[in-house]
Parts: sequence; structure tokens; C-alpha cells
Amino acid sequence: MSLMINDECINCDVCESECPNHAIYQGNDIYIIDSAKCTECVGHFDEPQCLEVCPVDCIFPDPVHIEQQSELMSKFLKLVALNAC
Ligand code: SF4
Ligand code: SF4
Repeated sequence: MSLMINDECINCDVCESECPNHAIYQGNDIYIIDSAKCTECVGHFDEPQCLEVCPVDCIFPDPVHIEQQSELMSKFLKLVALNAC
């Protein structure tokens, strides 16, 4: 599944540059993860990079976007193909 950021985000900006899929951006109040681009870092890293760096642990699985490992890999391959265009 995609990850999501909750309202404990302190807008520190650390996670944005760590995302290999450019899925994280600054929203009006807190940072936001684009579920269409988040692969839980599948295809790039063994662990979600945003989770590793967030100083306040405000990033969690998004229950609205539940995906299996194979679906995350499929999303990764589509993103790679798009970026190659
Ligand atoms: Fe980006 Fe990985 Fe975090 Fe998803 S889990 S938002 S792909 S850094
Ligand atoms: Fe918010 Fe955590 Fe990202 Fe910092 S690292 S902007 S606190 S989600």
C-alpha cells in the first residue's frame, strides 16, 4: 500500500528529497504523499526511505490504498517506463 503522512508532520522537508519516486510534496499544511507514485520504495530500496528519515514518525500505511508487493512492483515498472519517455 501507499504510505500517508499524518498531521503530526512538522514540515521539516527531510523526506521529500529522499523519495526515489518524487511522490512527496508540500501541501497547504503538511507534506503529502501521492499514492499514485508511492511504491513503499519497492524497486529502489528494501525499506521505505521516508520512514527511515522522518524525525517525528508521522508516516503510516494508507488504509485507503492497500496494495500487494506485486502491485507495488508493477507500479514501480510503470513509473520507470513513464520517466523514460
Ligand atoms: Fe516515497 Fe518510498 Fe516514502 Fe513511498 S515509501 S513516499 S516511494 S520514500
Ligand atoms: Fe513531515 Fe516527517 Fe516529512 Fe518532516 S520527514 S516533512 S515531519 S513527513
